[in-house]
Amino acid sequence: MSLIRKRFLLGFLLSCIISTTVLSKTEVSKADASKAGAADSHHAPEGSYQVFDLTSNIKMLQGKGGNIGVLVGEEGIVLIDDDYASMSDALTAALVPFGGVEKLSYIINTHWHGDHTGGNHVMGLEASIVAHENVRQRLMTRQEIKAFGMVSEPYPEVALPSVTFREALSLYINDEQLQLIHLPSGHTDGDSIVYFKKANVFHLGDHFFNGIFPFVDVENGGNVLMMTKNLKGILSLMNETSLIIPGHGPLATKLDLISFIDMLSGTTAEVQAMKAKGLSVTQMQEKGLSDHWDDWAKGLLNAKTWIGIIDSSL
Ligand SMILES: [Zn+2]
Ligand SMILES: [Zn+2]
Repeated sequence: MSLIRKRFLLGFLLSCIISTTVLSKTEVSKADASKAGAADSHHAPEGSYQVFDLTSNIKMLQGKGGNIGVLVGEEGIVLIDDDYASMSDALTAALVPFGGVEKLSYIINTHWHGDHTGGNHVMGLEASIVAHENVRQRLMTRQEIKAFGMVSEPYPEVALPSVTFREALSLYINDEQLQLIHLPSGHTDGDSIVYFKKANVFHLGDHFFNGIFPFVDVENGGNVLMMTKNLKGILSLMNETSLIIPGHGPLATKLDLISFIDMLSGTTAEVQAMKAKGLSVTQMQEKGLSDHWDDWAKGLLNAKTWIGIIDSSL
């Protein structure tokens, strides 16, 4: 089946419901996804998860792609992001101590990138997927990130979000209120953060790469300036005891997020200053950023790539 021929993204890759759309899944699409899952199972199981306990019932799972948030309780499991498709066997195994995939109640996608939604093909068989409406739109059509030569083929219905929203949505489950808040035009055009209101825990998706230069998907609606603005806007929800799950990198605090925002602002200012002097992108990349930011280049992106992303956001 053509649906199986998926090449996934790179290695990163509410109280008021303003607009909520609920779409039902069909048995046919579930069967299709089962076949896709069977095909995937020809591949050797890959990877494993490190589990971090944030509270008695909130966990962070680190595997291959984006960090996963897990809320467990009597009313079932809520999963925030589900990694690459190739990690689905490992993720299924990692959920066994919490009751297993059959206890899934909701799956939330922070954005469409395959390192956060690849598991939808398997996890989507068990529970409804919730995401911003642009995530559904993008996943149901062919996507490209030309900068990395990456292509994502359309997902089958069962792997698509069946509950979508525009601005914000609340889920009340396991004695917790999860607020899903859309942050416009930041990392992509369909990002949401998840705020565990009672527990003072956040999952920021790829709006936050803790300690490293982030990938910002400018060709798919992301923008460094908007990402910075969005993050400044949510700081007021946090305090010194907040725990923050970043899209990538280790578990974080508000201070780590402030460092990240300072890096976004500081490096953007340096690129803007070079641009004001008339330097081309290539010239800016040759000149580089100040030494102050060297540590941020030791993770995913080097300074040259980061300068290019900032330049394309201006
Ligand atoms: Zn990611
Ligand atoms: Zn991403």
